[in-house]
Amino acid sequence: MNFIRLRKNNLWVDNILAIKLAKKYKTPFYCYSHSQIQNNFEALNNAFKAVNPMICFSVKSNSNLSLLKELKKMGSGADVVSIGELLKATKAGINNKKIVFSGIGKTEEEIRMAIKKGVLLINVESESEVNLINNILKNTSKKISIGIRLNPNVAGKTHQKISTGGKDEKFGLIYKDFINLSKKIIKMKNLKLEGISVHIGSQITNVQPFKKVLSAINKIINKTRINFKFIDLGGGMGISYSKKEKQINLLEYAKAVSKFIKNKKTKIIFEPGRFIIGNAGILITKIIHIKKSNKKYFIILDAGMNNFMRTALYGAIHQIIPLKKTNNSFKGNLSFVGPVCESSDKFLNEKKFSKLAIGDYVAIANVGAYGMSLSSNYNSRPTIAEVMVKGSEHKVIRQRQSLESLINN
Ligand SMILES: *Cc1c(COP(=O)(O)O)cnc(C)c1O
Repeated sequence: MNFIRLRKNNLWVDNILAIKLAKKYKTPFYCYSHSQIQNNFEALNNAFKAVNPMICFSVKSNSNLSLLKELKKMGSGADVVSIGELLKATKAGINNKKIVFSGIGKTEEEIRMAIKKGVLLINVESESEVNLINNILKNTSKKISIGIRLNPNVAGKTHQKISTGGKDEKFGLIYKDFINLSKKIIKMKNLKLEGISVHIGSQITNVQPFKKVLSAINKIINKTRINFKFIDLGGGMGISYSKKEKQINLLEYAKAVSKFIKNKKTKIIFEPGRFIIGNAGILITKIIHIKKSNKKYFIILDAGMNNFMRTALYGAIHQIIPLKKTNNSFKGNLSFVGPVCESSDKFLNEKKFSKLAIGDYVAIANVGAYGMSLSSNYNSRPTIAEVMVKGSEHKVIRQRQSLESLINN
């Protein structure tokens, strides 16, 4: 089910015409569909019903506070990778026992905060991190739950810059190091080794790599004989960004996980980001200029790579949709670009598009994940607003940054 869709030449978000929003709020701005988020969250829960997993939303994919509150209401926990994300998750009311702390470079300050909050698991990624945690706890009687992130040596078959599971990547511990570190943790009086975690990358649309991960985990369990209380399978479930690209087959993945946990007393954790929020967001932007240069038409938008970076950073392809499609189409070389002074500040090339004019609005599609959270003030442009649509209602869930706050530093 798509809650953001073209119907009779108009783009709708839930029950609201997108053009109505474009006229009300200053462009560019992010716009999310509450129904789509709920739909995605439930789809994941339903697919894995037999497993009854704990779903910990990956806060780095979208860290808007109101959004986190909505996810909390749906029953989500949080996967956090910094002290800022940890504090945001708790501020949103997410129970500390539903928060896992991941990341390869946790500082002492961050670990102290995680201990103070009593998070469910700290997923460690190095021996020195374990030593740091142990040192912090040395003179206390506390016992903290630890998970070790395994590097399963499984490449996610995705874009190189979002693949994290190969043995040459910086993430997790390879088999031998995992075994050695687990022996060490078991002897430490302040640490409880309760979890094994993996995350092999993002936008994975094929179940095969996930199956390989499950076998890699089995190998560890057979070797160590540890009954892990938590097996954290990370996120990475891919979505459909184009007609050619299919979203991951969740039922097939769920079947593999069900088989895997048979006869195991363990809680499965997932850390999805993109799957929950990716297709629930669009970036509404206005055409400020159209310029013809050397047989190419540049459609210059008021949104740039500072607002949405995935294309410049990963070469990600995001469709662009007119808010009001015309019956005439334009044929030629079109290039949708932003206003930033970088040649990588471009979004999409098209050969055919609904006829466009200066002042028209278009939406960059599927930008809910790693959109706003990756944005910056580059070129001294303010961070933009975020709007949530819920049924027939809409409200700002983040104000556009004021010029006053922008120029203060
Ligand atoms: C980024 C990240 C996720 C979320 O990945 P998605 O592809 O958005 O689901 C989950 N876990 C960890 C450890 C991550 O770094």
